[in-house]
Amino acid sequence: MTGSGAWSLGPGAFAPEFRALVAALDRGERPRVAGPVPGAFAFAMLAPDAAAELLAEIDRRAEAAARRGQTAAAPNSMHLFGAQLGPLGFDPWLRELCERWVAPLARALLPEFAGAPLDRHHGYLVDYARHRDQDLGFHVDDSEVTLNLCLGEDFDGAELNFLGVRCEAHRDGPVLAGETAEYLHRPGAAVLHAGAHRHRVEPIRRGRRRNLILWCQSAALRADGPPERPCAPWCGAWTAAATG
Ligand SMILES: [Zn+2]
Repeated sequence: MTGSGAWSLGPGAFAPEFRALVAALDRGERPRVAGPVPGAFAFAMLAPDAAAELLAEIDRRAEAAARRGQTAAAPNSMHLFGAQLGPLGFDPWLRELCERWVAPLARALLPEFAGAPLDRHHGYLVDYARHRDQDLGFHVDDSEVTLNLCLGEDFDGAELNFLGVRCEAHRDGPVLAGETAEYLHRPGAAVLHAGAHRHRVEPIRRGRRRNLILWCQSAALRADGPPERPCAPWCGAWTAAATG
């Protein structure tokens, strides 16, 4: 791998479970995949070697940028560590990841959120460790659909906790019975969820966890700003109360 320019993972980089999901999609079947709570889907996505290779490539590019005097841009206002991946030259690959791999899966699993083309993306690396970001509070993502892919390394803690899907109007409402669950990251595995699915990251207890976060967005859905609706059909403020 070179330190700049186009970069891609070969088809062999994907884990058998993910390849089976894509094959099911290609046959027109709904992929059989579950997750820690309804609305979140977990699967092995990359072979462990490929996850490590991607992380090493991100590190190589960040170090090369630092040598040129370019400071890595923080992912967003919620993180002090980590880096945006676009400025490191990963945008062509992230676009392919979003449009070729994530969008079809999201259309099948999260049709309420991925019905319109997911033609925009924002990709970044998060970096949890004792002397880096240690946790992350309750929030939603600025995405239609988010892919959260663990690249490494060795860690305890920093679990992802889901806290219910909510519309804009009910975003700060209480977490209801049956809609919270903890997801344990492991390198190569990913979880796919709606941006409106509230979540937080528990404190890291040991080691370092680094994940690629890909926010997949729809230009069409965002053209007119957020919808001005009192609630949305997929909002869990009511359904979770009924089923929890
Ligand atoms: Zn609502």
